[in-house]
Amino acid sequence: MVINKAYDCYIEDKQGNKFIDTSMGAGSQIIGHDNKLIRKISEQVKSGTIYTIPNIHTDAVNFYLKKYINPEFHDKYVFCNSGTEANMRAIRLARAYTGKNKIGRFHGGWHGGLDGFIESRGVPSIFNELVEVLPYNDEGCFEKITPDLAAIIIEPVQGSNPRSDIGIFLQKLRERCTETGVLLIFDEVMTGFRLSMRGGAGVFSVKPDVVTYGKVLGGGFPIGAVGGKKEILKTKGVFYGGTFSANPLTMYAAKLILKTIVNKRYIRYDKLNLMGELLRDKLNQVFIDKKKPMRVIGCGSTNRVVFTDKIIKNREDRDKLESQNQKYFYNQLKSNGVFINVNGIIQLSMSHTHKIINKISSAVMSTI
Ligand code: PMP
Repeated sequence: MVINKAYDCYIEDKQGNKFIDTSMGAGSQIIGHDNKLIRKISEQVKSGTIYTIPNIHTDAVNFYLKKYINPEFHDKYVFCNSGTEANMRAIRLARAYTGKNKIGRFHGGWHGGLDGFIESRGVPSIFNELVEVLPYNDEGCFEKITPDLAAIIIEPVQGSNPRSDIGIFLQKLRERCTETGVLLIFDEVMTGFRLSMRGGAGVFSVKPDVVTYGKVLGGGFPIGAVGGKKEILKTKGVFYGGTFSANPLTMYAAKLILKTIVNKRYIRYDKLNLMGELLRDKLNQVFIDKKKPMRVIGCGSTNRVVFTDKIIKNREDRDKLESQNQKYFYNQLKSNGVFINVNGIIQLSMSHTHKIINKISSAVMSTI
């Protein structure tokens, strides 16, 4: 599929076929495609899009993040151009701050295409030796968190098995990291400014030492951000720069998005989360009524279809329990006008109204 244009919750391919989009730029477009804010951002083009010298918008973004997001545990931020880059910087920072090299990450998590974090040709095996993979949502992970680790990185809610019952696990993880002197990094690239104004940290009341953001924060433009206490962020000798880092266009977009969130203008988390819940309830009813071994799991406005009716605790369970005929469902659903991205993650926007949820539900009903 090749896309020609996108507006509200719709995407149109080059043949003019229109689909309800449930990916929304992999979660970036929380207001909707071609929204009022995006149009305003184009004003910045007239004043230049790249200076490589600090700009006024970055000050404003820092102000909003410090004042409203997690002021009591993150007071300094640095900016880059993607979630992957933010995580690369966060990990480097953790290694420099602690003087240790090994990083713990969780099975089923996604932190971008970082060497040592993905299975890919071209990555020397030595990178993987510096990373320990732990079981997610499984208390068996705690004994593997030992003082030789620099940091643990985790998505508070994993896209591979989005769930809202993860709070206690995250709180115990916080305790274990403190006990062992291991930094806790929350990768909030997907969950930040989506699950709530204060991301997963806000929803689950957990204070990570370092946080990374991306997606929603850029308002549709490429962004990454690393936040933490000054004491950590100011670690001497850590390199942060880059030609496009904190460019005025992206920073203007981030400023407008943050203003919008703080002033509850175009983004209302109560409404957004309600639509997420409605989608889960409606589709699960369809699956139950049609006696299909399928369910929707999720947290807030982030959902995914799992191809089993059994309860799954993590990605490992998903792999064991899911049936394999998933492609047919996604292709057929697309023919019925609803697009779910290849990563299977459904992320709603403010333009997904009750009526749109009903349309998705009807499309699913005719698909299965
Ligand atoms: N972390 C998480 C949790 C993500 O969902 C993603 C993107 N899907 C990334 C990191 C990587 O971000 P980017 O694609 O902007 O590099």
